[in-house]
Amino acid sequence: MNRKEEISSNLHDVQIKIARAANLAGRGVDEITLVVVTKTFPVSDLQILYDLGVRDFGEIRDQEGSAKAAILPKDIRWHFLGQIQSRKIKSISSWASVVHSLDSLEHAAKFAAPEHTDIHLQFFAQVNLEPEREDRGGIPLEKVGDFLSSLRDTYSIHPIGLMCVAPVERSPTQIFSQVAQKSLELQGEFPELRALSMGMSGDYEEAIAAGATHVRIGSSILGSRIQIT
Ligand SMILES: *Cc1c(COP(=O)(O)O)cnc(C)c1O
Repeated sequence: MNRKEEISSNLHDVQIKIARAANLAGRGVDEITLVVVTKTFPVSDLQILYDLGVRDFGEIRDQEGSAKAAILPKDIRWHFLGQIQSRKIKSISSWASVVHSLDSLEHAAKFAAPEHTDIHLQFFAQVNLEPEREDRGGIPLEKVGDFLSSLRDTYSIHPIGLMCVAPVERSPTQIFSQVAQKSLELQGEFPELRALSMGMSGDYEEAIAAGATHVRIGSSILGSRIQIT
């Protein structure tokens, strides 16, 4: 199999599994956005995905994402999934459409700065379900309500949903339903909070069952990558 056949076949399998999981959950497949996570993979792979119809790509590094975005067609939506660094925010704002990993007011202030206000970024607020692992990023679930209030009141930022990465040691089903439950609770006060970014190669079917609207899938489609994070 050449690379194009390999990616095409993997993509097809994932799309079938997404459709099946949506079906089982009584949900429409059009409710779910597949973000193909392309970090570490070459532009030639992204071009193959583009030719297969993929328009949502996920990256975790500013330098890599901005370089790829400069080369590839302009109708791609770039999703920034990585930990945010203050000094990269201006650049991230220039190529990304959706930031999944907002978890600090300091970063929000930079995204909302006057020189960026012509940019229409969408945000997810990242939550962290292992408070003992703060290095992973994310707001503890019990503090996310306060975080959303501050984003709204101070920066006029209205995240479209919550994002999480399920800790490996915990049951993804349990984690995803906890996050979905929290999202429901918050919707009264934050009506724009409609999306849920959760589910990766190992657990996206569970995430869809729990209500994920954005699944972020890399290795199931592109193969294993050299570990960079
Ligand atoms: C790498 C990454 C993914 C995709 O992981 P796979 O296991 O390869 O599907 C999803 N979300 C984030 C935040 C990532 O860093």
